Amino acid sequence: MTLLPNSAQARDVAYLLHPATNARKHEKTGPIVMSRGEGIYVYDDAGKRYLEAMAGLWSVAVGFGEPRLVEAATRQLGRLPYYHSFSGKSSEPTIDLAERLITMSPKGLDRVFFTNSGSEANDTVIKLVWFYNNAIGRPEKKKFIARQGGYHGITIASGSLTGLPANHRGFDLPLPQMKHVTCPHHYRYAEAGESEEAFADRLAAELEARIIEEGPETVAAFIGEPLIGAGGVLPPPATYWEKVQAVCRRHDVLVVADEVINGFGRLGTMFACEHYGITPDILVLSKQLTSSYLPLAAVLFSDAIYQGVADGSDKLGTFGHGFTASGHPVATAVAMENLDIIEERGLVAHAAEVGAYMQAKLRPFASHPLVGEVRGVGLIAGVELVADKATKARFEPGRVGPYLYGRGHEHGLVIRAVGDTICFCPPLITTEAQIDEMIAMFSVCLDETAAWVEAGMPA
Ligand code: PMP
Repeated sequence: MTLLPNSAQARDVAYLLHPATNARKHEKTGPIVMSRGEGIYVYDDAGKRYLEAMAGLWSVAVGFGEPRLVEAATRQLGRLPYYHSFSGKSSEPTIDLAERLITMSPKGLDRVFFTNSGSEANDTVIKLVWFYNNAIGRPEKKKFIARQGGYHGITIASGSLTGLPANHRGFDLPLPQMKHVTCPHHYRYAEAGESEEAFADRLAAELEARIIEEGPETVAAFIGEPLIGAGGVLPPPATYWEKVQAVCRRHDVLVVADEVINGFGRLGTMFACEHYGITPDILVLSKQLTSSYLPLAAVLFSDAIYQGVADGSDKLGTFGHGFTASGHPVATAVAMENLDIIEERGLVAHAAEVGAYMQAKLRPFASHPLVGEVRGVGLIAGVELVADKATKARFEPGRVGPYLYGRGHEHGLVIRAVGDTICFCPPLITTEAQIDEMIAMFSVCLDETAAWVEAGMPA
């Protein structure tokens, strides 16, 4: 593709380094520049329409053109465009949102700390837990156990919790305090004939053995996404969460639920913790909190942790952590309006209903020659492509998933390929008719990909 001189594409290639992108390939292909959005659709700078089946990055709950969020932001910008929450300062929308999140979230969460991103939120979780354990006199208890395949962010510490090689390679990660146990994906990691429950037993036993091997007095917390998102949409095996929580409780290991993708209706419940019966000590939220119109994340935690941290701050003189934009009033005002919309329009119940419809429409693809597994809950799903259905053999990396992803763009469909798993995570406002439209486009893309594979995957 030739990039027209001075075009947005050419200037992008000249000046930007993109996240999660092969920079050399990008120099040749250039970007797709999105110019505007409306409902579940976005339009590029040439006016081409795309159905956004990923809600951006798993995040735009109320769609791309919600005027109420624009008005909420504008109102707050006019009143108080910025204030911070350092050294005892505060602002009204930030207090309102903190109270609301504590009121609506699972029992046992009593305090909120705001950050700008999920990565900062998980860094905050680590620092909060380290500070807490220092404050209550157990400075040895610092290790975190996460899962392979999990995603918790990309900063040095949160990126170390992430269990994806692509986020570690070349970065000298993970940090030594961050450990990883087996990915809870039955299709890939269960033994032949092992039931979901037996697989969950084995994973809980592995976690317990790992805690004992490390020394329970050194293990501070276990962190997981209730349903793994960015690692390829991996619902845990049945009974997994009740079993791993019991192990954590036995060894006084905190349970951290990272609901950055799962939260606010994605699985058809307000929080995925409700869906899986998780009672976390710490809950991490972001993305659909503001529909990503503005950056905002929140760490909710128990009173026990708060009391330890408050004592520690008193002893040391401060809780020396926070960001210039922690609890930014415009972001929190937008979150309040976004939550109003989710509640008034019944979008959680809607996601349960349309989600069940989407799952039912996707399941038949399991019999397609290229598909190994179709999985998901509510309005999040993954379709894993395999070279051999019987042996579950994978394709050579970096070919088939990206090819199908590219076919999607051709046909006006934005999906995501995590390896060879095609992910779907449309906005919560999506209708059944729009699911039909999405599935019809996907079906064409899948058949075209199968034909390309059949032809020997020409470059
Ligand atoms: N946790 C989870 C579960 C996520 O999916 C993500 C982002 N995809 C993050 C944390 C990191 O969030 P951010 O990109 O805002 O730093």
